[in-house]
Amino acid sequence: MKPFIVIFPVILFCCLLSAKRPNILFIFSDDHAYQAISAYGSNRNQTPNLDRLANEGMRFDRAFVTNSICAPSRAVVLTGKHSHLNGQLTNGETFDGSQQTFPKLLQKAGYQTALFGKWHLKSSPTGFDFWEVLRGQGPYYNPLFLTSNGNRKITGYTTDIITDRTLDWLKNERDSDQPFFLCSWHKAPHRNWLPAPKYMSKYDDQDVPEPATLRDDYQNRLSPASTQTMTIGKHMRDEHDFKLTPPRELNDEQKKIWNAAYEPKNKAFREAELEGDDLLKWKYQRYAKDYLRCIDSVDENIGRLLDYLDQSGLAENTIVVYSSDQGWYLGEHGWYDKRWMYEESFRTPLLVRWPGSIKAGSVNMDLVQNLDYAQTFLEICGANQPNDMQGRSIVPLLKGETPSDWRKSIYYQYYEFPGYHNVRRHYGVRNHRYKLIHFYMIDGWELYDLEKDPNELESVYGKPDYEQITAAMKKDLSRLREQYQVPPDNRPLPAKIKNLY
Ligand code: CA
Repeated sequence: MKPFIVIFPVILFCCLLSAKRPNILFIFSDDHAYQAISAYGSNRNQTPNLDRLANEGMRFDRAFVTNSICAPSRAVVLTGKHSHLNGQLTNGETFDGSQQTFPKLLQKAGYQTALFGKWHLKSSPTGFDFWEVLRGQGPYYNPLFLTSNGNRKITGYTTDIITDRTLDWLKNERDSDQPFFLCSWHKAPHRNWLPAPKYMSKYDDQDVPEPATLRDDYQNRLSPASTQTMTIGKHMRDEHDFKLTPPRELNDEQKKIWNAAYEPKNKAFREAELEGDDLLKWKYQRYAKDYLRCIDSVDENIGRLLDYLDQSGLAENTIVVYSSDQGWYLGEHGWYDKRWMYEESFRTPLLVRWPGSIKAGSVNMDLVQNLDYAQTFLEICGANQPNDMQGRSIVPLLKGETPSDWRKSIYYQYYEFPGYHNVRRHYGVRNHRYKLIHFYMIDGWELYDLEKDPNELESVYGKPDYEQITAAMKKDLSRLREQYQVPPDNRPLPAKIKNLY
């Protein structure tokens, strides 16, 4: 009798503890500009389901990445460490999946972990009880999935299929006795922006507003802003980007639907023989509309997941997180793509719904980074946060209590040069008002006063009145580099590239 009296309360306590532990659904997209989310004030599209997350949860307006490029961002999210420590400096490396990641720690803490969708880290996923991922970038249609139980090809639209598989797992495959950490990670809206059949003609009868900086001339900044190769006007030339020919990945039936939607548009374009600014306008419209059509599918599928959480009763004890691996230029500075420490690609959307803990409709302005996600998930799930992770849990922020010693500035570094779009390597620091960028291979500096110049059109580095601010920002940059143990980036450049400097 005596052991039972002792053990029973322990068992009861453990049951209560595990019953209380929340589930997490982490929806992650690829290249989603916050400018294309109506909860963030988009004037270009409506995203009712993302808005639902914002209205019922918290919107982060100063969420940033540490390195604005796909695979490195994913590695930062998984490890809670900057690129120089997790080894994924660029898209070129293969992620070392043997290292410590938060999903492995959640498994140890008794969580069931599963991943569906885009992975993009070359090595096979580790730390997931079940995974089913696209190979590499993956196509928009008829994707091949690599799974922990072999490969399989599924016919249809990838954004829908990733959600179908996420829902299947929730409904039929998980162990309902265990809390879960579930990743639904989209390929969309990554280049080259192929919409689902139902959205191929959406926006046909309207113009998408242009951003103020679409015709940026790159004056008043150092050379890197003008030597890039990522403008919509000059560098977006691929007929597949513009959908002037049917995408190769479509089957015959899909091709018919495609032709019916795009051939009339393409015929009108060919007949118009546009030039100069008229051609730029057309390119922007074609690009922006296809991009937004891809977002429409992402948003619709988020709605499907939220509806299921409601219907199943899981919503109350399931935290839903939405973010993207980085932000994106939807024509700002004349660009597409990402990579820069300038705001549109440095920032990333972050929406979190946590019933009972987050005040509905709240907005957070603290400086947070994708570096913080791992420790946040660990704290929510009651697991220990290892000392060698470099972020900080945002759980207090979610509860509306910003600690007095919360960070006042953040560190950034981009490494992928030489590389696509010729964006020079740079690092820098941003606080609530200023941003200092060091293009370290040419030892050139830019400083932006974000209050006076939110579009970052004029570097005030070296200008009168900014000496003290520059000195303080440089000191802060050194402090952060020391804190994060950032080594010098001595990777050599090919001789041809060296001559560009
Ligand atoms: Ca990306």
